[in-house]
Amino acid sequence: MLLTWVCRSCKDKLASMAIRQDDPRVAALTSQAGEDIIEYGPTGDLTIRILCEDCLEALTADEPEITFVRAPELH
Ligand SMILES: [Zn+2]
Repeated sequence: MLLTWVCRSCKDKLASMAIRQDDPRVAALTSQAGEDIIEYGPTGDLTIRILCEDCLEALTADEPEITFVRAPELH
């Protein structure tokens, strides 16, 4: 399955990662994030709707759930 991180404000694709469906990170993610953040695709892929750095800075609203759902660090 594929995890894709998309900015929910500017719709930018931030990151994507192929992952096993039984990977513990999937369970962690789905338990932390609500259905308003995670979108389940027809093929079982997940889209995680977060805010990119730019949009995060642009918004003054305090949305604490963002800190739990971040794109993976890219090295
Ligand atoms: Zn954005």
